[in-house]
Amino acid sequence: MHRSSFPASSKLPDVGTTIFTRMSLLAEQHQAINLAQGFPEFDCSPELQQLVEKYLRQGKNQYAPMAGVMALREAIAQKVFEGCGTEYHPESEITITSGATEALYVAITTVVHPGDEVIVFEPAYDSYVPAIELCGGKPVYIRLDPQYKSIDWSFVRSKISGKTRAMIVNTPHNPTGNVWTVDDLNELAKIAEMHDLLVISDEVYEHIIFDNRKHVSASSVAALVERTFVCGSFGKTFHITGWKVGYCLAPKHMTTEFRKIHQYLVFSVVTPFQYAIAEYLSDPDHYLSLGAFYQRKRNLFNEAIMGIGFNFEPSAGSFFQNVSYGSLSDENDLILAERLTSEAGVASIPMSPFYNGYSDFRVLRFCFAKHDDTLLRGAERLHKVVW
Ligand code: PMP
Ligand code: GLN
Repeated sequence: MHRSSFPASSKLPDVGTTIFTRMSLLAEQHQAINLAQGFPEFDCSPELQQLVEKYLRQGKNQYAPMAGVMALREAIAQKVFEGCGTEYHPESEITITSGATEALYVAITTVVHPGDEVIVFEPAYDSYVPAIELCGGKPVYIRLDPQYKSIDWSFVRSKISGKTRAMIVNTPHNPTGNVWTVDDLNELAKIAEMHDLLVISDEVYEHIIFDNRKHVSASSVAALVERTFVCGSFGKTFHITGWKVGYCLAPKHMTTEFRKIHQYLVFSVVTPFQYAIAEYLSDPDHYLSLGAFYQRKRNLFNEAIMGIGFNFEPSAGSFFQNVSYGSLSDENDLILAERLTSEAGVASIPMSPFYNGYSDFRVLRFCFAKHDDTLLRGAERLHKVVW
């Protein structure tokens, strides 16, 4: 066999390495300030680290139960109940996954059969579409402007066909930072009910939400609960993106099918970390303070980039701020993001890879989950760019 040839046809011929990996590598190469890939620059709390150490030393080092450590499932059930009054049974309706990435992948694989259509709102997080395609499904795109203000639900309705199986939604949203309202969730529920669709709701930024907005979880809308896989993650909530611990909430009959795939994909998830997170979750302050923490960083960054000529609305949620540079330059966003990394020493993420096919809205995404000093130095460098 020639080392250079793959002995079968590619299942994902159009997929390359993710834009996050590419921009982080480029940032490293040029020793640029990395405001690109979304991960916190700061460490998680020492208390959480000590809890991991405690459970490592207690010998919690073998396989966790397939569905997850019961203490963690119980802690999640309690948290969700306190947050929105919905009861998910830890035994049969909560599964611990290897990050939200696995939860999303398994949820998609659980519902999508060859030929099924899945509604995807774009810009969309990059992992949804490849998972749909690997199942032989077809993404049906609802294209939104990166700075969209509201959703045209009648347009969404017009995209539903007899083949539509599911809809994937994400609030607070990566990459736009938009947050859906109760009305949006109610519209979603109406469409899902009318056409008997399943919903996959990506809520990894649930606690990173600003200006007194409230996150509306699909798990808080009765009509959605019975047909939704709610995918969450502790990565963003506790500054532990490297631990890859997430979860999926879904009614029993859906969870049963979900676990059939989860058990053969990863079987179970890293044990001592699950125990540590379970104990850490007992203090709601550990996650309820996150919105204020990031709102201050958002404001700091936004004030620091004032006067450059970017056009932007403050992000409503997530740890991303988008800016439009259309009045400064006509440059393509991929090229500009690379140039800013290599020449100005600031890495960002261009918006176009979040769209299917060609699109260039002249928008860049900056991650503000960084030390204040990093954000200020990044902004200072951006002020010096010659457009
Ligand atoms: N969904 C969205 C919208 C994300 O931004 C991310 C990661 N940043 C994920 C899912 C994946 O989460 P995890 O790291 O827990 O796999
Ligand atoms: N979700 C992160 C982002 O949007 C990156 C995760 C990844 O690199 N896969 O930047």
